[in-house]
Amino acid sequence: MEREIRVRFAPSPTGPLHIGGVKTALFNFLFARHHKGKIILRIEDTDQKRYVPGAEDYIVQSLQWLGINFDESPALGGDFGPYRQSERKTIYQSYVQQLIDKGKAYYAFDSAAELEEMRRQLEAEKADNTSYAAHIRHKMRNSLSLPEDEVRKLLEEGVPYVVRFKMERDRLLVLHDKVRGEIKVNTNTLDDKVLFKSDGMPTYHLANVVDDHLMQISHVIRGEEWLPSLALHYLLYEAFGWQEEMPSFAHLPLILKPAGKGKLSKRDGDKMGFPVFPLEWKNPENGEVFPGYREAGYLPEAVINMLALLGWSPGDEQEFLSMEELIAKFDLDKVGKSGSRFNPEKALWYNHHYIQEKTDSELARMLLPIVKEKGIETPIDFVEKAVSMIKERANLIPDLWEHSSFIFIRPPDYDAKLVRKKWKENTAQLLLDFVPRLESLDNFDAGSIKTLFESYVAEKETGFGAIMLPLRLTLVGSGKGPDLFALMQLLGKEEVIERIRAGVQAIVKQKDSH
Ligand code: GLU
Repeated sequence: MEREIRVRFAPSPTGPLHIGGVKTALFNFLFARHHKGKIILRIEDTDQKRYVPGAEDYIVQSLQWLGINFDESPALGGDFGPYRQSERKTIYQSYVQQLIDKGKAYYAFDSAAELEEMRRQLEAEKADNTSYAAHIRHKMRNSLSLPEDEVRKLLEEGVPYVVRFKMERDRLLVLHDKVRGEIKVNTNTLDDKVLFKSDGMPTYHLANVVDDHLMQISHVIRGEEWLPSLALHYLLYEAFGWQEEMPSFAHLPLILKPAGKGKLSKRDGDKMGFPVFPLEWKNPENGEVFPGYREAGYLPEAVINMLALLGWSPGDEQEFLSMEELIAKFDLDKVGKSGSRFNPEKALWYNHHYIQEKTDSELARMLLPIVKEKGIETPIDFVEKAVSMIKERANLIPDLWEHSSFIFIRPPDYDAKLVRKKWKENTAQLLLDFVPRLESLDNFDAGSIKTLFESYVAEKETGFGAIMLPLRLTLVGSGKGPDLFALMQLLGKEEVIERIRAGVQAIVKQKDSH
């Protein structure tokens, strides 16, 4: 029987979710949906020292914003819960006991100072392996080196201990990863990892493997930084006797810095001015604020499209893929081995594309809050018309305001350079004489205004440019902006005439004072 596809995203709530983490969540999501399987959100919060309040909520909200949703999670529940590891403490206790009983794990009582001394000595001897492992464990204070009754006494006295995995020697493991292929690891390079601590909490390795097993995870898809843990996880499955149901593994390549090597970091984002987090994050400890894609004005579709193509490709040239198309095309065999460079311009390019895909009414609803924030009350259909004129120029949602503000507010000033170059002796009069004609125009639509304007230009024998640019200056304050006649129609007769009069007056004054 085919195994049911069950994958999990298993973040630790130690801070905001980096877009590298989002990519891992996305690939799990796409894989699960493609294969009509299940995706689980499991919160790995066993490391109390690194726990950051608000981080779990942040993770949940980020993924919700992006449309990455789960079938089982702390909030949704499910048949394999609880889904927060801190609520599964008693489960791990019984499993670590199994390993101790089988002789696969042991108690170690070494103090921090003793461990430090061990490392120092091994370093002085220039040992190949300076960590706690088979070559040194017999010299340390643990249940393998100490007599049984002493071990019992130490445990009864409540002396702090950890449980370590008893890593075997001289074994060549041949592991398989769906992205990297075959991986060979000699167990002599590995150490006796801590699985459990006397505070009653498991470490990442134990909790992760036990939960993947109990939650019947079929595929572990995670970041490349976990590849060094693969051998230990493999041996843990074996130690528990679970190798038959061991999941397949796929370690995803990292997102690299825009230039050069290395993992994309928060600092790259700060330096180059792009977010590396999906949502804005305020550090609860010091109030420091990190920018987010949502607040910067990216659309979730753009972030998803961009992240999907960092390390995966549909196998053809297609660059724009909706979530549905990604689900239809995604599979692990097209995930590349090497990391992909993050390209901030490409992110903007995707966003520009997805802004154009929105309807004017959708965009108007995104622009409206900004317009309101500026203290402007305008009906939504006016905002909609404004947006349709300028959306082509917008890469980010706030650009919609940057490029349309002149529609909502009269020019606060007039481009001095243009005034100097284009405003002649007779310009003011030419514009003022045009006003009564506009006033008497019955149908104030772009076509009629244009016809009127053309006949006026012909009559005055001035040429188009001599009036067109000054007219634009009075209406918008600069030489930029959309089609002038369409803009005049949107502004309406009254507003246009007021802007021309006010503009002429201000520009003449501006010129006089120079
Ligand atoms: N809790 C680990 C993390 O924070 C999970 C790694 C894994 O997927 O096994 O990324």
